[in-house]
Amino acid sequence: MCGYPFGLEMGTDYSLIGESACGACQNVKRSFTKAVSALRYDDDSRQMIIGFKHHDRLEYAKYFSNLLKFAAADLIEKSDLIVPVPLHNRRLIQRRYNQSAVLSQMLARETHIRHEPQLLQRTKNTPPQQGNINKRSLNVRGAFKVSNRHKHLIKEKSILLIDDVYTTGATVENCAKALKHAGAEEVFVATVFRVVSPQQRK
Ligand SMILES: [Zn+2]
Repeated sequence: MCGYPFGLEMGTDYSLIGESACGACQNVKRSFTKAVSALRYDDDSRQMIIGFKHHDRLEYAKYFSNLLKFAAADLIEKSDLIVPVPLHNRRLIQRRYNQSAVLSQMLARETHIRHEPQLLQRTKNTPPQQGNINKRSLNVRGAFKVSNRHKHLIKEKSILLIDDVYTTGATVENCAKALKHAGAEEVFVATVFRVVSPQQRK
């Protein structure tokens, strides 16, 4: 459900796994149906993501979007709209671009799915993700909303939410919650990277 990789190679026939989920997914209620990531986040990928996020290495967008097309193929097929995790306006001015929106735009262009980069808004300027898992989760609680003028677009629709890294899942969970609350039928999540640590969000 959350995309946490099992130790076993499961192949692609998910029906064999049935309804089984990782420990964290069995313990918490998630607002998204399924999350997938293309790559494990490690020391090597950290350099790529820092370049992409902070140093205008936007040429990675094409590569990342190709990875997502492959990793999230079954989710893309079921999605009506592609939406990025938003930055707060103040952060956007500092950074000049939202790396998730650059990525979602590229993916939307390649998949011919409608892209709505302004649909989700970040209402709280949360500090960069730091601290323990509970603190991170509190930081982003209620930090997102669907803009009023976009609400009519998501009624009973399946939304594909895009971010660069899945860390604790708190950010995408809160985005998904806002989307569902505003009437979305289903929310899928695709991120390029997945932090794989033994400590899972509870
Ligand atoms: Zn899980």
